[in-house]
Formats: sequence, C-alpha cells, structure tokens
Amino acid sequence: VSSAVTMKGTQDEKERERMALSQAEVVKQSIQEVRRSLPVFPYREDLLLAIQQHQILIIEGETGSGKTTQIPQYLMESGYNEGGMKIGCTQPRRVAAMSVAARVAQEVGVKLGNEVGYSIRFEDCTSERTVLKYMTDGMLLREFLTEPDLASYSVVIIDEAHERTLHTDILFGLIKDIARFRPDLKVLVASATLDTERFSCFFDDAPVFRIPGRRFPVDIFYTKAPEADYLEACVVSVLQIHVTQPPGDCLVFLTGQEEIETCCELLQERCRRLGSKISELLVLPIYANLPSDMQAKIFSPTPPGSRKVVVATNIAETSLTIDGIIYVIDPGFCKQKSYNARTGMESLIVTPCSRASANQRAGRAGRVAAGKCFRLYTAWAFKHEMEETTVPEIQRTNLGNVVLLLKSLGINDLIHFDFMDPPPHETLVLALEQLYALGALNHLGELTKLGRRMAELPVDPMLIYGPGCFCPQVLTIAAMLSVNNSIFYRPKDKVVHADNARQNFVVPGGDHMVLLNVYTQWAESGYSTQWCYENFIQFRSMKRARDVREQLEGLMDRIEVEVCSSEGDSVPIRKAVTAGYFYHTARLSKGGYKTVKHQQTVYVHPNSSLFEEQPRWLIYHELVFTTKEFMRQVIEIDSSWLLEVAPHYYKNKELEDSSSKKMPRKQGKAKEELG
Ligand code: ADP
Ligand code: MG
Repeated sequence: VSSAVTMKGTQDEKERERMALSQAEVVKQSIQEVRRSLPVFPYREDLLLAIQQHQILIIEGETGSGKTTQIPQYLMESGYNEGGMKIGCTQPRRVAAMSVAARVAQEVGVKLGNEVGYSIRFEDCTSERTVLKYMTDGMLLREFLTEPDLASYSVVIIDEAHERTLHTDILFGLIKDIARFRPDLKVLVASATLDTERFSCFFDDAPVFRIPGRRFPVDIFYTKAPEADYLEACVVSVLQIHVTQPPGDCLVFLTGQEEIETCCELLQERCRRLGSKISELLVLPIYANLPSDMQAKIFSPTPPGSRKVVVATNIAETSLTIDGIIYVIDPGFCKQKSYNARTGMESLIVTPCSRASANQRAGRAGRVAAGKCFRLYTAWAFKHEMEETTVPEIQRTNLGNVVLLLKSLGINDLIHFDFMDPPPHETLVLALEQLYALGALNHLGELTKLGRRMAELPVDPMLIYGPGCFCPQVLTIAAMLSVNNSIFYRPKDKVVHADNARQNFVVPGGDHMVLLNVYTQWAESGYSTQWCYENFIQFRSMKRARDVREQLEGLMDRIEVEVCSSEGDSVPIRKAVTAGYFYHTARLSKGGYKTVKHQQTVYVHPNSSLFEEQPRWLIYHELVFTTKEFMRQVIEIDSSWLLEVAPHYYKNKELEDSSSKKMPRKQGKAKEELG
C-alpha cells in the first residue's frame, strides 16, 4: 500500500511539475507576445542600426511605448554586454528604477539582482553578474567618483530625460564630456515626446530616433469654476465615473503620500457606505515610500466587473505605465522644490503643474482606447495660470551637494561647466559660500579634506561634526530624518490615540531628540512590529530608517571616523546638528520666528514638539510652505554654539540678544509678552 501511495505521490508531483512547467511556458509566451505588441518592437532593427551608427542618439517615444523596458533588452540581445560590459539605464525616481528592473528581470526570466538589477540610494540590488543595471540618476552621478570615465559601461541610457532633474542635467554635461574620449561608449537619451530638439542641440546635433506612438483620442473636460478642495473633488469625480461611466480604470494625480492616503481612505469609506449598490472599486495608491509589494499591485489586471483606481504622484505621469487606464483625473497640482537664491531657502511647495505636465497626464487616458481626462480646474486657468513647461530643477534648488560632487571630480570652473540650462549665478555663488562656511572649500574654492569626505558620503553634513569624530546618536537622527515625515501614523478614526502616543515620545530639546527617542525605544523593543503598532509608529518607515542607519554606519566605518558617544546628554547631539545646519537658524521674534541671516519670517510647524514651547533659538531641518512658511523638524539650540561651530559665518552682533546666557525654560510668559 505504502509503495502505491508513494507511487501516486510521485506521479502527482510529476504532473504538478509538468503543469507548473507549462504554466511557466504560457507566462513566457504571453510575455513575449506583450513584448512584440509594444510600439517600439517594429523598430527594433532600425533602432539597433542607428545605435551602431551613432555614438549619441536621442530617442523620443510616447510613454508606454517600451523605451525603458525594451531597449536595454534589445541591447543585451545583440551583445552590448560582451566582455562583462554593463548597460546602465538611469531613472529620476527610485520607485521607477525598482519597478522597471523587477519587470525586466521577469521578462528576461532571471532573478532580480542577478543579470538584471537596480541600484538606488541605500539599496544596491546588483551582483557581479549584473549586466543590465537600472539606477537613479543620482547613483550614476556618484559612480563618476569611483569610475570617472564609466569604463565598465558599454551603454548608458539617460532615461526620462524630459524630467530634467538636477542629477539628469548634471549627467548630461559629464557624459557629453566623457563621450569624447570614450568613442566605444554608446549614449542614449530617452524622452517622452517633449523637448527632444533641445537634447539633440545640446549633444552636438545628435540624431533623434522617433518611435511613432499609438494614441487614441482623449476628451478633455474642465470644471466651470475653480475647485475649493481638490482632494474632495477627486473623490467625488472618481465615484461619479465609477457609477456613470463604462468600464475602464481610472488614474488620479495627487501631490504626495499624505494626500494620496487620505484620498484612498475617503474612497474606501464611501464605497463601504454605498455597499452593494455599486460594483467593486479597487483603490490602489502609488508613491515613493510605498513598500514594493504594494507598488506591484497597481500592475495586476483588474478582475472583470470591477474597476481599478490608481491614486498616484507624478510618478505615473511618464515613469510608470499602467495598462487599462481610460479615465484620468487631474487636479493640476504637483509638489515642487523651490529655491530662493537670495535667502538660500529651499522649500517644497504644492504648485500648479505645467501645461506640458497636464498634457502628459491626459495622454495616460488614451493608451489602450479612446479616453477621458477630467481636469479639476477651468479652461481659463489652463491657459493663463499654468506655465508652458516645468522649470528645470537645476534652476530652483540648492546646489551645495552638486558643487561638492563636481569639485571632487576635479571640475573647478563651475561657471563654465557645460550646462544645458545653467543655474542662476546667485545660486551657484551661494552654494560656494555655504560650502566655504561649512569648511568644505578653502578660500581658493578648492576642496578641503572635510569637503572630500562630505562628497563621499551621500548624507547630511551634520554627521561630520568635529575633527574626525561623530556620535552614533546623530547617525540615528540622520537616518530618521531621511525617512522624512512618515514616522508617525495618524489614522483618521484614531486621531486622539495617535496624538497621545506621539506626545509620549516628547523629550526636551526638539524634534530631532524625539526622533532619536522613538528609534531608541524601538531598538529596545527588539525592532518589534507590535511595538510600532501599539505606539502608532509606521513600521516600514522605521525599517527603512534602520536600513539607512546600517548603511551609514558602514560608510562611516569605511572612512574610519572615530566614535564619540553622547549618551544621556543632548548637548553634544544638538551641537552636532548645529554644526551641520547652522545656516538654518531662526530666532524668536514677534508672533513667529525670523531667520538669522535673511530676516525671513517663518513659523514652527504645528506638528513639532516645540510648537507650544517656542524657544528663543532654533535650527530647522527643512521649510515647507503650505499656508505659510513652516519649519519642519526643529531643534532648540543655544546661540553661543553658533559662534563656536561657525565663527566664520556669524558675527557676535547678529546673535546679540542671546547675551542672557541660559535660555529660560519657560517661554510661555515671553510669548504672551510678545503677543
Ligand atoms: P516607456 O519607457 O516607453 O514609457 P515602458 O518600457 O515603461 O515604456 O513600458 C512598456 C510596457 O511595459 C507598458 O505596457 C507597461 O504597462 C509595461 N510595464 C512596465 N512595467 C511594468 C510592470 N512592473 N508590470 C507590468 N507591466 C509593466
Ligand atoms: Mg520609460
């Protein structure tokens, strides 16, 4: 009997194996079919020929035509990886690099991280076997530090070139330069249907290869009057579409994680209330900090009878293509960095997107069939209130880190660097001044030892406090700050509990100290998920902070800095933050704060642990403009430290009212007096 059972068992197994095999075969076949159906496929041979004939080629094609996933595979298939050479493909966004690499690994039929991999900041998913490497533009930029001529690459693809991120723009200049003495290097600049003439022009009239797109007509609808609350308008529009429109998935563009989560919650709640009166609506978010298994969900096919709504950041504008979208809802906003070169203030602002962006968004509705785009703004606003195109990031950002990087690549004359669009002169000068103030450059504008170290570490300057010494607590803080505002969980139905939990973490000193406290307690819990759950802390953000922290520790080990712990005493920690961020100092002043150097009025963010206390002197981590200019993540300092850590930057006079040595702990009275 037993042998019969075993027999049967093995037969079953074989059968199952056969079935699994044939299933894999089916998947493989359908993958090949999908690959052949993409708009780029008929141009495969022409494209390869053009690449063979030209060193630099601009490739223009509608989003979803297969530029990112297919062209690198064509290159692999025709041997560009021979002799262990790599094909690199840059993406402006982390999520896109990861998601596309995963997809291509699947298409090629290899495990992600083997032949096909990706590399993003703090996460390297490649191996010696990797020949096709997707990466963020920032990561390729860093590779210049170790391999100035990119000798291990046979092809570099600068993808999503139209996004014109700071890093992509710098890559343009560097790659154009090395292409001159690397005649064997192929350079492909891939872009959506935008700006390609400019790219061609910049790269000495490189030819443009156009992949004709298939695009179905998209009907565009505007609102009659401006929307007071675009989030609510999105929710209502989705439900209206769901109830009144024929089948087809829906894509909503919002500006960030918080908005997206709120929108998804609202949609789910209203669907629950409507119950069986409506068919199923699958609500799926996508944004940078979303875990990758959740990200992958947006690509799974919609079950018949239901409708999918993807609520996305700009990532879905051109970086990721979701099949089956027929309806697009576009409130017309995006989150943009903006920089005031006069005051040196950088802030993230929700602003109207450009007309070019709006048109790309609308285009997402017409990939598979005729579609509809609902713009939650008026036709007048489209014409008169939106810019034609988005200003390249290089013209609206702090250039500190880029200047540092270029200097360490030996590029000293930044004024004459080959920029496609040069940054404003003041911005460049200010960056040089700040780096000088930090001690990264000497008075000749040359990189100092400290500057070189700063360039090697893709981290906050505050980590490098004092001569070759840092404290692990500061490392934790830097890691926590890098996961930026996604630590505390505040679900709508448990606001009171969540706020109480948050209050329990408050310690004197400010938000940096609170973050450190959260991390320390979590570590003491054994990095427990349950602990996070009980304390309204987002587990995945903490996990990420832990990853970042480990990587930073590795980096610090590599450059052999000494460790000097400051357990139990917050002063050295706060001084370290001051040393790194002294140019972000604000002083209490009537009704709010004033930045020390530029007398700009700013306010403590209501979420801050120092919102009530309002100490006299603060260092802020970042500024966010919503209803007014808010400082997010602030730490209380003693103004005398400023003279200690940045004597070249501050004069005694500027810090005058600090003459009362100790800050009074109770600021309530002072606040009243100030009215
Ligand atoms: P382009 O770069 O020209 O915009 P892509 O190469 O990104 O085009 O996309 C080609 C096709 O691959 C699209 O139909 C898209 O839906 C599909 N695709 C891309 N990434 C994924 C993924 N992670 N899962 C499933 N399909 C994907
Ligand atoms: Mg692409």
